[in-house]
Amino acid sequence: MPAQLLEGKVIAEKLKLAIKAEVESLKAKTGRALKLAALQIDENASSAIYVKAQKRAALDLGLEYEFVEMPIETSRAEAEELIKNMNNDARITAIILQLPVPRYMDARKLTNLISPAKDAEGVTPENLGHILLGDYKIAPCTAMAVGELLESTKVDLYGKEAVIVGHSAIVGKPLSLILLNEFATTTVCHIATAERDALQDHVKRAEILIVAVGKPGVVKGEWIRDGAIVIDVGINRVGDKILGDVEFETALKKASYITPVPGGVGPLTTTILMRNVVELFKAQFI
Ligand code: NAD
Repeated sequence: MPAQLLEGKVIAEKLKLAIKAEVESLKAKTGRALKLAALQIDENASSAIYVKAQKRAALDLGLEYEFVEMPIETSRAEAEELIKNMNNDARITAIILQLPVPRYMDARKLTNLISPAKDAEGVTPENLGHILLGDYKIAPCTAMAVGELLESTKVDLYGKEAVIVGHSAIVGKPLSLILLNEFATTTVCHIATAERDALQDHVKRAEILIVAVGKPGVVKGEWIRDGAIVIDVGINRVGDKILGDVEFETALKKASYITPVPGGVGPLTTTILMRNVVELFKAQFI
């Protein structure tokens, strides 16, 4: 039997209803607006497409969205000053620094300046640290989106063999902690795993498989364990198509659940971003 599709869009619609209702009640209770401020340095940055989606999602849910766009000539000191001003602006609930920033700026240093209390993407050291401790309310949106998709299957993660392919700071690493918090037996693979030709050995064991690499078809469908849950985070433009990191057609025949690409993880991440804004607001004012 082919796998059931895990469609992020469907889960996102449900989440949006709950977020919208909560935003209304928080506004009524506090008399304050919830505002997400986005800083983009370089008016031609590739993040422009995300900015549009964020603005639409925020307004749909009753949040305000302030977009601050700075030219590529902006100095590092100016960017730092802007972030500090946003931290101190009581009307701003949450801040997102759109990546990439110009090459001469250090994205990590700038990110670290965002107040953890206003860190919409859950990417400051303090908020990442809370995931390690298992007491987090917000986390990087993609990692949380994967968590929501897994939860939607109602499969108990306790003791399950979970394999994550990809160890980036915003997807693979936080996700490994989220899964460990659920007592999954968690393995993290990366480029060095592939270089010693061990990737398929790990993937074949996975009852829960999450792939976030950015290379189309890096995980072969035939490696998928029968009945595995497969979450494909990868987004790869190949010609006029968007493909994931997992060979979809063959994986579909073996998995119990699988995310389509596009339409799986992607549609959930912006909704989770908005939920993070609500959580930050509650921590600030409730
Ligand atoms: P990244 O480039 O920061 O990390 C890639 C990871 O893959 C690294 O751990 C690297 O060691 C590993 N890797 C590279 N080649 C490999 C190989 N041959 N075998 C095994 N591991 C290998 O990437 P990222 O920012 O985590 O993004 C990964 C993918 O997820 C990209 O396609 C990106 O577009 C997508 N993404 C999607 C969303 C979403 O909302 N759906 C969000 C973020 C990222």
